Amino acid sequence: MPRGTKIVATLGPASTDPAVLEQLIKAGVNTVRLNFSHGTAQDHTDRANTVRAIADKLGVPVAVLADLQGPKIRIGKFEKNKIELKKGSTFILDAACELGNAERVGLDYKELPNDVEPGAILLLGDGELQLEVLEVRGTEVYTTVLFGGVLSNNKGINRKGGGLTAPALTAKDMEDIKTAAALQADYIAVSFPKSAADMYMARTLLRAAGGTGGLIAKIERTEAVANLDEILDASDGIMVARGDLAVEVGDASVPALQKMMIKRARAKRKLTITATQMMESMISSPVPTRAEVSDCANAVLDGTDAVMLSAESAAGKYPVEAVEALARTCIEAERSVERGGDVPLDTLPFDRIDQTVAMATLYAAGHLDLKAIAALTNSGVSPLWLSRYISGTPIYAFTRDQTTYRKMALFRHVQPRMMDADLVDRDAQITHVQTALLKAGVAAPNDRIALTFGAPAGQGANTLRILEIPSR
Ligand code: PGA
Ligand code: MN
Repeated sequence: MPRGTKIVATLGPASTDPAVLEQLIKAGVNTVRLNFSHGTAQDHTDRANTVRAIADKLGVPVAVLADLQGPKIRIGKFEKNKIELKKGSTFILDAACELGNAERVGLDYKELPNDVEPGAILLLGDGELQLEVLEVRGTEVYTTVLFGGVLSNNKGINRKGGGLTAPALTAKDMEDIKTAAALQADYIAVSFPKSAADMYMARTLLRAAGGTGGLIAKIERTEAVANLDEILDASDGIMVARGDLAVEVGDASVPALQKMMIKRARAKRKLTITATQMMESMISSPVPTRAEVSDCANAVLDGTDAVMLSAESAAGKYPVEAVEALARTCIEAERSVERGGDVPLDTLPFDRIDQTVAMATLYAAGHLDLKAIAALTNSGVSPLWLSRYISGTPIYAFTRDQTTYRKMALFRHVQPRMMDADLVDRDAQITHVQTALLKAGVAAPNDRIALTFGAPAGQGANTLRILEIPSR
């Protein structure tokens, strides 16, 4: 059984060298994340091209995820780069201040004074510093320090419980969407969306720029949790963005939210990426902690499509080891998922033909010894349906479309396979599937497999066939 849970690796200085990229892909990276918070359009385009050249050489599908920076809700800079904040002291966030000192600091985010009122709690950095708003006077927000510490230039600001009005798409994001479209990103992640409207806007801009990628909503604001259903409907998937989310909702709330979000996403036929600090200690250590291994395994048990590395692969000392650690953890965790475990076939209402075919296939896989499910697909929709429940049978998705081939790299338990563009005859395709599965050692002569396809082609999956691989 091939590894089903996919691995997303963020690229950065530690993973720019093509030799390292090749090692990362060989170690199991299925999707690379281009972080638009850093680097130029040219950097991202070059990285995407290098990754695709290596993936083609190795004959494996690798998707490219362009992650937009989103609004920068940050303080400004200090005269001496940083200050020390003492618990109980008063500190002023001032939209009109140029260079900060021990008493006040400026704001990159000028709207802050309009977004807060006395009693609001502001968290700085990754939440290690906390301020309570005492009073707002014009451009000045007077606060008292609840938790102090060192505060340095341009630290991020979050408001506990949400409520900052910054729009999700900045002018820079709109430019970056064009870059993402031009480099044919397979997925675009929107940072800090609050509602479905943010996702519709990103989709409209992407399509206008000619991009065909899927839209991933990063759930990292309190409002996004509240609007999860409408955001899911407007997106192709979500990222459980635990870094910023933990700051907004409190770290202790995140594990349960992760489970809830993955469950709701899967039920709506959407993808999930579980992100941030998965293998954090491996930034500087060649082995993960027990807690990190458990966390990754639990994300697999929650049903995530993918687990993600951030600084571990972008800037850490052990990017390849971090991918290897994720890969072995996923494989082992998947073994403990019950076969046919979460397919709720007796109660689930179906409303689509392709969905019905997918569920019938999963039902068959739970009752007949099938070595594989093979899906012939143009758009990738039927493999997506097949992968929303865990049947324990690997799914091989055969397509003639490059874009679909790469997109499916993110789908849990789906192994994308490319067919020649001129292989259009249905019987020839079926022969190709059988030969490919035999050659890969997935099935042997006399083994049974399920096959789904649209008849005539281009209809969406409307047919399930159970095949016995002929003995030669
Ligand atoms: P980021 O998003 O890495 O872009 O901040 C992920 C998160 O907040 O967890
Ligand atoms: Mn974030």
